[in-house]
Amino acid sequence: MKACDRLDVDFRVCVRLNTDFHSMKTLLTTDPDQAAEFIRGGGIVAFPTETVYGLGANVFDERAVRKIFEAKERPADNPLIAHVGDRSQIAELSREINDAAHRLIDAFFPGPLTVVVKRSARVPLIATAGLETIGIRMPRHELARRFLAACGTPVVAPSANISGRPSPTTWQAVYEDLDGRVDCILQGEATEIGLESTVVDCTNEVPLVLRPGAVGIEEIRRIVPNAAVFAGNAEQAAVSPGMRHKHYSPRAKVVIVRNASEAVGHGRSAFIGLEATSAHFDRVEVCASPNAYAHRLFAFFRECDSDKIDVIYCQEVEEMGIGRALMDRLRRAAEA
Ligand code: AMP
Ligand code: MG
Repeated sequence: MKACDRLDVDFRVCVRLNTDFHSMKTLLTTDPDQAAEFIRGGGIVAFPTETVYGLGANVFDERAVRKIFEAKERPADNPLIAHVGDRSQIAELSREINDAAHRLIDAFFPGPLTVVVKRSARVPLIATAGLETIGIRMPRHELARRFLAACGTPVVAPSANISGRPSPTTWQAVYEDLDGRVDCILQGEATEIGLESTVVDCTNEVPLVLRPGAVGIEEIRRIVPNAAVFAGNAEQAAVSPGMRHKHYSPRAKVVIVRNASEAVGHGRSAFIGLEATSAHFDRVEVCASPNAYAHRLFAFFRECDSDKIDVIYCQEVEEMGIGRALMDRLRRAAEA
């Protein structure tokens, strides 16, 4: 039995019944207290973090959490990450923080790292997609922290995009996908990192990196030396169901190339990478570093879509630090 079969809700039905989202008024604000009021009232709010924008609801309010799945058209078997404003809230989400999780929390909270631990009985199954575990993260982003403090509860938040689309790194990208579907968008700057958090499952003897992110494997192994990396086999895929789903896809086709000279295509084309190129593209973005590349990637995908680009050539990077996360997202985008 799949974990989500334990849920009493069929989300495909929920999504079909709620297709008329555009009747909802979405408030735009820069005030974290005003945004938090919607969370306290059972609503859903998009907010910035250092990774990407998230779409949040009070973790303990089942009806509010359900609204996230509906607004995003997110498959019911894709679990949500709970965001905490301070460490004391971790105990509300899990009563069993083992040694590896403790060490990772001490080393990387607040920051772009999610630890997966056993859930407490208070956490509704809808939030964890029927799993007995929950992902927890404490953002370091100033506005996110003020927002979470004002919410006064842990907030579950997946990326604030329609499922399958590139994650939003600006409030305008959130607006493009979710205007009329969410109560409020808390407007901040473009997100610093631009890729989602590193996810580490700490519920087994060997901590397992399920999703690469801004915190590199090298840094994680300095804290938990026996950490392994998700290899995508069936047993590991069962632990992180969300990894199977289509992700990060612009409408344009994504092709990974070693360098710009390999990019020969038809139609309107674009290039993003680290090397300057004299070849002709309809849109080109040369990034000064892998960090700058990560910061720009998802926004570039969306700009290419607005520009009716047919093919986006993405230059590969070395799989070190953020480069590993970047290659993971590029491969998933290219798969679609
Ligand atoms: P998103 O918030 O859209 O970036 O997606 C969250 C991702 O984190 C999911 O797709 C999973 O891959 C992972 N995740 C969240 N919660 C868990 C959990 N309890 N167990 C394993 N993986 C999780
Ligand atoms: Mg997502």
